[in-house]
Amino acid sequence: MSLLVVGSVGIDTIETPFGRVTDVLGGSSTYIAIAASYFVTPIKLVGVVGGDFPKEYFDFLESRDIDLEGLQVIKSGKTFRWGGRYLYDLNTRDTLFTDLNVFEHFNPVIPESYRKTTYVCLGNIDPVLQRRVLEQIERPRLVVGDTMNFWIKGKNAELRETLKLMDVLVINEAEARQLTNEPNLIKAARTIMMLGPRVVIIKKGEHGALLVTESTIFVAPAYPLENINDPTGAGDAFAGGFIGWIAKMDDFSDESLKRAVIHGSTLASFCVERFSLERFKDLTYLEILDRFREFRELSKFDEAITV
Ligand code: AMP
Repeated sequence: MSLLVVGSVGIDTIETPFGRVTDVLGGSSTYIAIAASYFVTPIKLVGVVGGDFPKEYFDFLESRDIDLEGLQVIKSGKTFRWGGRYLYDLNTRDTLFTDLNVFEHFNPVIPESYRKTTYVCLGNIDPVLQRRVLEQIERPRLVVGDTMNFWIKGKNAELRETLKLMDVLVINEAEARQLTNEPNLIKAARTIMMLGPRVVIIKKGEHGALLVTESTIFVAPAYPLENINDPTGAGDAFAGGFIGWIAKMDDFSDESLKRAVIHGSTLASFCVERFSLERFKDLTYLEILDRFREFRELSKFDEAITV
């Protein structure tokens, strides 16, 4: 099975209570692709960077077997840059700056060799561009998409058009409520299902994730980590782990979707242990499997025997 990922590739500056890093690798599709690369390779990455994108970042992506044919390099331009700051509540962050740079006029062009891709993950970009990507792919088996408050507010009608083409929407809880005007998350998920996606996954940060399909509701915990350094990219790493697993197994049954949600939570939990994508430099598949199994223990309990 093959997986195409589109979204931002960028250079981040991040401040958390545990440190500050400047000019580190970031971007929504970077996190998705790196997380998914533990399950299927090569990942076909579609995005844009400027002439300033460091060689070591290209090398890192290639070291994870990510196919960069679809990554446009605009030599005369600058890479997308984003800065964010987290205070003690790591669930909320302030955006310090967003410099779109080459991303501002990004027109995703899907190379010929990518057009028969079976799985597609649309990272958080303009819903018009998400649709333009899909128009260039021949009948994908599954389309997973992400979005954010910026598009829900600014391009609501366009987003609704794109939602019709998505099979799975991965969205955080505040955004699910905003999209549907519905405070109850189960009802919000059901409302989203009427807009197109047949599977909705609502991310709840350190409180885990909720999977809703026609026939099931599944609640996954977040891994109880004691040392979190940087929450950036956790949602994208979740999406990458989820779609990577589904693409590897080529199975969208409810049971497989549940396992995929746990793989998503596993990848997200590793992501936040270090700044930027540092943790993925030495993370092994065996560590992922070990943590995946630990998840089962987290919510397992015995029935009390009463007489
Ligand atoms: P997440 O923490 O999952 O929301 O993803 C963080 C990544 O998204 C960072 O590495 C940023 O480079 C990237 N990012 C931040 N704002 C935007 C935006 N407006 N459009 C696309 N990517 C963004």
